[in-house]
Parts: sequence; structure tokens; C-alpha cells
Amino acid sequence: MTDFYKTAFWKRLRAACLKRDRKCTTPGCTELAVVADHIVPRSKGGADTLENLRGLCIRHHNMRRHGNEPYLKGCNAKGQPADPNHWWN
Ligand SMILES: [Zn+2]
Repeated sequence: MTDFYKTAFWKRLRAACLKRDRKCTTPGCTELAVVADHIVPRSKGGADTLENLRGLCIRHHNMRRHGNEPYLKGCNAKGQPADPNHWWN
């Protein structure tokens, strides 16, 4: 974590992102977005722009932070359906 995330600039950008993406942008997820996530990480030169941000719920943000892309449609990190009502479960 850097001090960047404490700046007014980031807080404005984050608020704008969450206003645009009210729901988690992971396909099939209906949770409210609570985290503005960099699509290309800042550590890899990702820009601090709305185009490089997406809203994620806490669960999908945590998955991403652990190195798993949350974009396996409808599946969790183990490849099982994320939806507890799915007939596989
Ligand atoms: Zn989600």
C-alpha cells in the first residue's frame, strides 16, 4: 500500500468508479461494488484513470489480490460454481 491511496485524487477517482460500477463487474456476480480495482495494476504501470478501474465486491477483490483472475465465468478459484444455489453444489 502506498500513500497514493490516501490522496484526495484517489478518493475522488474511487468514488467516480463506484458510482459508475454500482455492482461488481465480475460476470455473474450481483454483489455491490465496494472496491475500485486497477485493471492493469499500478505496479505494472496501470494508469489512474476511470478506464483502468473497475468496481469489484470484496470477495472478488480478495481473489484478485491472491493472484486469481475473477473472470472464470460463474466459478470460484477452485473451478466450482460460485453460486451456492448452482446444482453442482
Ligand atoms: Zn463480485
